[in-house]
Amino acid sequence: MPTSAPAPNGAHPATSAHSHSPIGRYLRALHDKYARLEEGTVATYIPELGRARPGWFGIAIATTDGQVYEVGDSRCPFTIQSISKPLVYGLALEAHGLKTVLHKCGVEPSGEAFNSISLEPTTGRPLNPMINAGAIAVSSLVPGATAAERELRLLRHLGDFAGRDLVLDQDVYRSERDTGHRNRAIAHLLRNAGILTGNPEDALDLYFRQCSIEVTCRDLAVMAACLATGGVNPVTRQRVLAPISVGRVLSVMTSCGMYDFSGEWIHTVGMPAKSGVAGGILAVLPGQLGVAVFSPPLDARGNSVRGIRVCTDLSIDFGLHLFNTPRVVSPALRARHTAATRRSRRRRVASELATLAHHGNRVRLYELRGRLIFATLELAMRAILEEAAAATHLILDLERVIDLDRAACRLLLDLRETLLAQGKQVMLTGLAQHTVLRDYVVARLTEDGWKDLCRHGARDDALELCEADLLRASTLPAPQDAVSALQRQELCAGLDEPSLRTLASLLQPQSHPAGSVVVHAGAPADSMVFLVDGEVEVVIHDDGGHSHIVGRLGPGMTFGEMALADRMPRSAAIRTHTDARFLVLKFEDFDQLPGRGQAALHARLIQNLAAVLARRLRDANAEVLSLR
Ligand code: GLU
Repeated sequence: MPTSAPAPNGAHPATSAHSHSPIGRYLRALHDKYARLEEGTVATYIPELGRARPGWFGIAIATTDGQVYEVGDSRCPFTIQSISKPLVYGLALEAHGLKTVLHKCGVEPSGEAFNSISLEPTTGRPLNPMINAGAIAVSSLVPGATAAERELRLLRHLGDFAGRDLVLDQDVYRSERDTGHRNRAIAHLLRNAGILTGNPEDALDLYFRQCSIEVTCRDLAVMAACLATGGVNPVTRQRVLAPISVGRVLSVMTSCGMYDFSGEWIHTVGMPAKSGVAGGILAVLPGQLGVAVFSPPLDARGNSVRGIRVCTDLSIDFGLHLFNTPRVVSPALRARHTAATRRSRRRRVASELATLAHHGNRVRLYELRGRLIFATLELAMRAILEEAAAATHLILDLERVIDLDRAACRLLLDLRETLLAQGKQVMLTGLAQHTVLRDYVVARLTEDGWKDLCRHGARDDALELCEADLLRASTLPAPQDAVSALQRQELCAGLDEPSLRTLASLLQPQSHPAGSVVVHAGAPADSMVFLVDGEVEVVIHDDGGHSHIVGRLGPGMTFGEMALADRMPRSAAIRTHTDARFLVLKFEDFDQLPGRGQAALHARLIQNLAAVLARRLRDANAEVLSLR
């Protein structure tokens, strides 16, 4: 075991991988919180273990897709000790089948200390594989023709879990072998009861070796994640245990993993776990993640003091209690877009579309969905953070989120703060129905904080705001004469100067203050309008008499032009959003163009109208598609 300060990668290793992640930040704060806790004593009954430093302290979390968050002495080697027991139990199950293993060792919690000499009175069978008696019986089931083969099999099995080759700490092994008189007594009792059949020293020696395998906190987190995935190492993708064995291993960890603290542990922390006397704890939240803590000082029951505190905090803060988390989780990220690939419903002229296509990458829209809990949001956050560098605006849309727990609320707000601190614009949308989030935000910030968070409204509003930001830089000053105003009209694309002048001569200028209704739904249509300056809203009224803004138009766009094609009454009302200037074309004048020798201008306007309507239809199709 290491006798000098470990810190192979500093006090906070691996900061590069997730220094900007709210989870990385959380772990650092958690580490700081308990680093100064000085309760507990380092185990000395195996003399070599007594050389550990009480201050060593590492935390690691591994997700089911192999992301590892780690902090503190997460790469400091120490001996696995009892944490090997569930893993070797899994090996025995796969090598011999449940029946044979059950014959050698039961699955009942003993409620007694790890080194208790408690065997079933009638059969002499150890109560479970997590106490030493059971673990020694299980070690005797490790396949192999010779001691060396069995040791190799063990090392390979645990190495597969860790995703790297593991070795023995020879000093700890010798120390255990030479002083493990109680374990020796247990082995001989097992031999007496016929549970061990060969030389009890053989099983005992393998057991000592298994306990002396050197691991790190990071290794333990990956090992835990192997169990969380149902038996596949999330880093190497190798299957290390069959799903049925994983279920059995997790069951004994649940009932017996934390020595005689197991009942209280599963009640409060709610994760199957196993601890070891060298100060490690490995905990599993099936389907979601693996957790590991390393801190040598132990409490009276042999569990790492800091380890228990850390796991308790993690469980509460991130909602990791097995019996409080949803069984089925689907990915939180439904879709991601940029302003180049997904536009607001606001109609845009060609020059604006070109700007959005060019700079749209700076705006990122993330549609979240389903149930947001630690595991689902962690994955989404990682994707968001990876892309954040290139973005200036980020929209996180919760419209399709079914619900979210407090852990998700916390992470969302932490993520928002992280991004704001990087100078990004962050907009959360679709929040209205999320009362859990509301309560959390009001408690963490204020009522006003919640209002502020909701101020961007729906996704489309936020997207439009972002687009406006992108377009602002390239906005031209308002045109002063009719010809230059027409030059910017999408309906006038491709018209030459004389045609523009002819058209301009037919138009009547109008100005309207903000808030005027300039078109009423259902009114007969006899003209169309070129919008020169300002903004108008397209408003529809539902059966209940409520009005809805379904679109906004700006300079360069037209309204009333659909009637140019079909002469139907107005389908929606138009209201000015700001002071606005128009140029009005009467259909009567338009219809007379061919008779006045302007057939080409007439045709071109019709052609442009068709192009504008076709584009609008394409946009509508894309939107319908995105709603699937
Ligand atoms: N090798 C240790 C023993 O048997 C393991 C104890 C433990 O980690 O609980 O005493």
